[in-house]
Amino acid sequence: MKFEDMEFSASIKEALSSMNYTTPTKVQERVIPVMCNGSNVIVRSHTGSGKTLAFGIPLSDRIITRKSRAALVLGPTRELVMQVKSELRQVNRFTGLRIFEVYGGHGIEGETQVLRGRVDILCATPGRLLDHIERGNIDMEMFDTVVLDEADRMLDMGFIDDIRKILEMVKPRWTHLFSATLDGKVAVLIQEYIARYEEILLEEEIIGTNIIEKKFIVPRQQKFKELYKYIQQAGRQRVLVFVSTKRYAEMLRERLCNRGVRAVSLHGDLSQQKREHSLEMFRSGKSNVLIATDVAARGLQIDNVEYVINYDEAADADTHRHRIGRTGRMGATGYAITFIDENPIQRGPYGASNPKAGEPRSYRGVREVKSMQFYIDRGY
Ligand code: ADP
Ligand code: MG
Repeated sequence: MKFEDMEFSASIKEALSSMNYTTPTKVQERVIPVMCNGSNVIVRSHTGSGKTLAFGIPLSDRIITRKSRAALVLGPTRELVMQVKSELRQVNRFTGLRIFEVYGGHGIEGETQVLRGRVDILCATPGRLLDHIERGNIDMEMFDTVVLDEADRMLDMGFIDDIRKILEMVKPRWTHLFSATLDGKVAVLIQEYIARYEEILLEEEIIGTNIIEKKFIVPRQQKFKELYKYIQQAGRQRVLVFVSTKRYAEMLRERLCNRGVRAVSLHGDLSQQKREHSLEMFRSGKSNVLIATDVAARGLQIDNVEYVINYDEAADADTHRHRIGRTGRMGATGYAITFIDENPIQRGPYGASNPKAGEPRSYRGVREVKSMQFYIDRGY
């Protein structure tokens, strides 16, 4: 199947071919025809599977062909909203659709100006959108379609009430939901707001066969030394380091920079501008070490890194898979290295998976190894 063979506007196809996109990904192949035909979709598919264009193409096509007036895309973070907007703009370079974004963390005046003009697709974080609504900057009735992108993440971040308010104001005729998971709060949201839909579930295929996973127990005081060793070993290859807190991210970055490593960080305490700068440095290769927290890195297109290092373990298996899935792409060999704390009970604030005091946590497939010995473990 090629994009050429699918039924949507020629102007979008032209843009796709100028982007060198010829073949839809699995999720795109399944979602595009269903959404183009006017059904609601609920889609579960992993990060990096191409969900943005899966909804971006049909949203645009329906507006171009006047089956829909305007669409609203809600996403959890500024970075994700910006990423979606850029991708939608790219496929709309020949269509004349007007695509804009609103998100917190920068001045609101510029956005207010933009909202005065015609908007065909608006990408927004829920909080900032409500801000505009309260200021009377936007007529919500113009939207007849809403996409909830990264729905699980938005709910994890506590946006449920904001999303409810928005959906109740828009009363969209079409509502689509995209998420890596569909249980818990996401299921409740679907039940409340999406009456009829087609469900498209893709199997996880995050972990390719090209990831070499190593986990080893590292005493807290030795973590930095170990990390530094890997960074040197990586040379000019890209290393993505995950830590559990914003504070650790900053501390590590400083320590590495003091040793002459060009490290940048990505976490929730940084200004919008700094976050973009970090991403840009890492993507362009000016910096080869990125230290990130899960919240900041979630959903962002940080792929094709040679090393993922879990300086702090992930809180759960899903997060772990999500982290290490950023390496070993497209046939390249990737290394996923996880430092396990010597004494998990004394670990920092980790959330739900934190063992109760006095209750040692068992690691499946991990035996007590003397520090620095590693072994390969493919099943987490
Ligand atoms: P998701 O939202 O599922 O995490 P994205 O939509 O961000 O995934 O897509 C991941 C990457 O794949 C992006 O860099 C995107 O530009 C690229 N991509 C998407 N669709 C295609 C395609 N059909 N052909 C080639 N690359 C694609
Ligand atoms: Mg996405």
